[in-house]
Amino acid sequence: MDYILQIMLGTFTQKPPDTKKVLRTLQQTYKRIGPQDIIVGWTTESESYQQILDLVHGNGKKVWLWLPVFSELPGDLNPDPAYNYSGELQEGLEILPNEDFRFVCPSSPHNQMLSLRLFDQYFSSLSFDGVFLDKIRHASFAGGLKHVFGCFCPSCQKSYVEAGVDIEQIQHLLKEHPNAFCPSALDRLRYRFDHPAVDRFYRAKADIITDAAEKIATGFQDRGLMVAFDVFAPAVAYLMGQDIERLSKEASFIKPMMYRITHAPAGLPFELENFGQAFASHPAADMEAGRPVFCGRCG
Ligand SMILES: [Zn+2]
Repeated sequence: MDYILQIMLGTFTQKPPDTKKVLRTLQQTYKRIGPQDIIVGWTTESESYQQILDLVHGNGKKVWLWLPVFSELPGDLNPDPAYNYSGELQEGLEILPNEDFRFVCPSSPHNQMLSLRLFDQYFSSLSFDGVFLDKIRHASFAGGLKHVFGCFCPSCQKSYVEAGVDIEQIQHLLKEHPNAFCPSALDRLRYRFDHPAVDRFYRAKADIITDAAEKIATGFQDRGLMVAFDVFAPAVAYLMGQDIERLSKEASFIKPMMYRITHAPAGLPFELENFGQAFASHPAADMEAGRPVFCGRCG
């Protein structure tokens, strides 16, 4: 059996662990299950990357650099923020100290360059085989209905309009009929929604993420690197803008985060609980026989 081992050396703001300890754990793991590919990241401070590369490459295996794309970015890169449908700045989420689950705008060309810039600045002299890109999505239901529907900055709004989405209609539906944003059917790995405007809107925001992922992947491939993606569990991925089927075509592999026990962002118990709560806080005034009911203004 082949595995890919994932080693978190710390975020951009955390202190990395002792290199000797990391190498010892890796050697012990190799003894037990045989040499395996490694995903490692994403602190810029660690001295241990070169030694990990030597150990893993010496065993004929690959090393993937783990990098975040639209969240947990260093503040000095000045990412373009994301705005919610009311025009307010998206709020972050701190579950553990120093975590910041604030997501930035996915359609901003500046933001799309940030993971590439981080690579060029800190990691390009190291012989990584590929990059493993994380946070290729917008915020999840953990931030409530206010912040889960992607970005509404002028650039993202332009993409919605080009995809045939009527922004005012979506804003009206979000304010008056939030249950319309709860899926009514599943089509392969994509959810479908009763209201055609909502269906188009989910499609459009997933396309924004996929188009950005394609561009970023091309940037890394041009640097001679393979590309892999971290994605949400299929049960929730499409709700956060991840069209797993399309994304998987851009990647050497994807890792769906099927975390059954983790009660933190990306863990299924956490995300599903927040998904339920987000809709439960809106009483089913716009529901009839389990389906949303629309008014004359909904079109
Ligand atoms: Zn935007």
